[in-house]
Amino acid sequence: MGTRQLSSNDLADRLREAGHKITPQRMAVWEILKKGKHLTADMIYQRVYSNLKFTDASTVYRTIELFTDLGLIRGLLVNNHGTYYEVCDPSRDDSHAHFVCTECGSVTDIDLAIDDASLQQITRTLGKIARADVMIYGSCLGEENAPDLSEAVSTPDQAQLIRLFSSGT
Ligand SMILES: [Zn+2]
Ligand SMILES: [Zn+2]
Repeated sequence: MGTRQLSSNDLADRLREAGHKITPQRMAVWEILKKGKHLTADMIYQRVYSNLKFTDASTVYRTIELFTDLGLIRGLLVNNHGTYYEVCDPSRDDSHAHFVCTECGSVTDIDLAIDDASLQQITRTLGKIARADVMIYGSCLGEENAPDLSEAVSTPDQAQLIRLFSSGT
């Protein structure tokens, strides 16, 4: 979806500017989130730990908090599955819709535009919109190939999900 992501060098600059040290754990959390796309704090911790054995969970949780505060990542609250984190583009609003598989817990970006008329209607009748997180819950097509939750949330084929969604089933 054309998200311009910060490189590791950009991340290092952002941390320095905000007065934070660059640590191997922080860089690892960043790289993992960039690759894994939507991951819970626990999934992130397990992956950091598999590379950097001396890492404790609280370091990883604090890093996630720090990145969230700096606007580098955002958390998506997913019913029954907790909060999933993803890298965001701090230079613009890149919020987007998600497909959540309630069976394997995978979370995938989907192209689902909310039309301007609907947004304007909400603004007029209810109030100013800060962000629009749309979650579609279902069961994904790839249960046989579904990732183990401790493994990469390598997402099911996105085109298939969109087809499934638009067929209305
Ligand atoms: Zn699934
Ligand atoms: Zn996403």
